[in-house]
Amino acid sequence: LFITFEGIDGSGKSTQARLLAETLQGEGHDVVLTREPGGSPGAEEIRALVLEGDPERWSAKTEILLFTAARRDHLERVIDPALAEGKVVVCDRFADSTRMYQGLRAEGLREVVDQLHELMIGREPDLTFIIDMDPAKGHGRAKGRGGTEERFEDFGTDLQTRMRAGFLALARQFPDRCVVVDGDRDVASVAAEVAGIARARIG
Ligand code: C5P
Repeated sequence: LFITFEGIDGSGKSTQARLLAETLQGEGHDVVLTREPGGSPGAEEIRALVLEGDPERWSAKTEILLFTAARRDHLERVIDPALAEGKVVVCDRFADSTRMYQGLRAEGLREVVDQLHELMIGREPDLTFIIDMDPAKGHGRAKGRGGTEERFEDFGTDLQTRMRAGFLALARQFPDRCVVVDGDRDVASVAAEVAGIARARIG
């Protein structure tokens, strides 16, 4: 089973991905916890290329190509082999993040992301948790981690608000795999809801 976590910066998805992986592992499942951008040595190098250094270096379209290349490597080397062995893969961000962060950046880019995804990736998660969070709080938490605001200056100040709306729209577009979880609660409550949903899906 392939499970992904999505949401705006500071929504707590990385914490929730880790907690779910630990819970399922503790219940006897063979779990691989991974993340994007990155998740394999080659993909981590691409992550550093894009996220570190001059935020103006890559155009939005080049960024889409780089992140898709990173995803292809991650898929081939980590995700697909683990799924083939019957493991549960828990991934912090996946293609939905590219649909949002790169796809919302300018008119027409979402289509580019989707077409490239179909051509080069072709895999969708079985279950996607969208950790929903008030952008003011999410932003507050993620502040100081750097990068995002500089790289997305063209989004304007309402970046996180547009992202949140985008993720909620995504959940409506893919209702079979997406579950929106209220992330504005204590970590344990969110984790308990997430674990319950994941268990039901694993069966
Ligand atoms: O999830 P994580 O904190 O590792 O993501 C690091 C940064 O990468 C995020 O702040 C986000 O702005 C950016 N990102 C991106 N495009 C993606 C995924 C993440 O710009 N497709």
